[in-house]
Amino acid sequence: MFGKRFTFPGGIKPKSYKELTKNCPIESLPEPKSVLVFFHQVIPTGSSAVPIVKPGDKVKKGEKIGAGEGKISSPVHSPISGIVREIKEFPHPVLGRKSLGCLIENLGDGETALLPENLSPWEKIREAGIVGMGGAAFPTYLKLNPPKPVDTLIINGCECEPYLTGDFRVMVEYPEEVLLGAKVMAEILKAKKVIIAIEEDRKEAIESIGSKIKSQNSEIKFQLVISHAKYPLGGEKQLIKATLKREVPSGKIPYEVGVCVQNVQTTFAVYEAVFCNKPLYERVVTVSGDGINKPKNLRVKIGTEIKEIIDFCGGMKDGVEKIIFGGPLMGIAVPSPSTPTLKATTGILLFTRKKEEPARDCIRCGRCVSVCPMHLLPSILYQMIKNEEFAKAKEEGLLDCIECGCCAYTCPAKIGLVESFKMAKAYGK
Ligand code: SF4
Ligand code: SF4
Repeated sequence: MFGKRFTFPGGIKPKSYKELTKNCPIESLPEPKSVLVFFHQVIPTGSSAVPIVKPGDKVKKGEKIGAGEGKISSPVHSPISGIVREIKEFPHPVLGRKSLGCLIENLGDGETALLPENLSPWEKIREAGIVGMGGAAFPTYLKLNPPKPVDTLIINGCECEPYLTGDFRVMVEYPEEVLLGAKVMAEILKAKKVIIAIEEDRKEAIESIGSKIKSQNSEIKFQLVISHAKYPLGGEKQLIKATLKREVPSGKIPYEVGVCVQNVQTTFAVYEAVFCNKPLYERVVTVSGDGINKPKNLRVKIGTEIKEIIDFCGGMKDGVEKIIFGGPLMGIAVPSPSTPTLKATTGILLFTRKKEEPARDCIRCGRCVSVCPMHLLPSILYQMIKNEEFAKAKEEGLLDCIECGCCAYTCPAKIGLVESFKMAKAYGK
């Protein structure tokens, strides 16, 4: 079916563990008793939204509570109908520091607010507060206003991190909505072609999207591209290389080669904003790992404490050592079960204790070099950082490292390569 498989150089094939949730249809988590919504929902280098409500205000579900006023910023909406109880700084799960959050208590009266109908599709996407939902959280309206022409829109259905199946379920259950969202974005970009990229082992999603593509009657050309299942194919640069054979230059972003990449759930959120006037205040999250009793795919209100989500999934097993937002390779460990979800929370993974092997000396096996999708020399970079030769490491391409973790995953000496690169990059800022 669909012929040739696409791929890119390097990468790894970790065990997927997707069987834990791939057959779990999306369920809706009951409305939480309260939510803690951070005003900072965009990428760490972006700016926080500015509060436009105050403690004591009554807000409707979908009502704007924060205005996106910075250069890289996006509005924030209330995920529930309730009363604003507090606006103050709380520990942010991704920024690693305190940040302004809005604590809203649920009134349960179901009052909702929609986007104004008279806006253009691009304005609705901006006003809906849509950001990249694959984890990057870059404001979508900015991505849809590129400084150079774009000929191809790629919908990234390559959910390549182990355990995560939320995008997969959205493609299986909402193929028409995904294609409508894609068409809207292609029209805004004036792109002539839309590629939906899916990994070969996601058969139900391939069938679901494939059958709807056949019935598309549009001037825009839709193409389903099947790729080998490999990590990190979901990375923008790898995906563009695999599907179009175009190379995004070092330090540049996809529009330099005429491409815009959007995640599946972002595309679904665009559909909801444009066709249903619905702001982004909920998303599908995969709850999985060996530490959860009933793994699930859940539609969750942004700002829900993860302990409410864990309880709905039958609670956690004994010995849970780590809770991660996102996938096991690029995700971030969260400090406590009271942490609230964000717009970019793709998964909540719970892992029980595993004995970590101590790091040994490099044996110069070269495995890290062969798997690096950015063609870097991880063992050499590591040595430079160890010797505090940061300028040299930058010359060797440190800033091109996408922190995918392939090198550390494959290293037989268990050297913390990616941690060292992250630390060196943060040090250089
Ligand atoms: S973490 Fe960086 S150095 Fe390691 S494989 Fe990925 S891109 Fe290469
Ligand atoms: S994989 Fe590990 S042991 Fe092998 S060369 Fe790279 S750093 Fe050294």
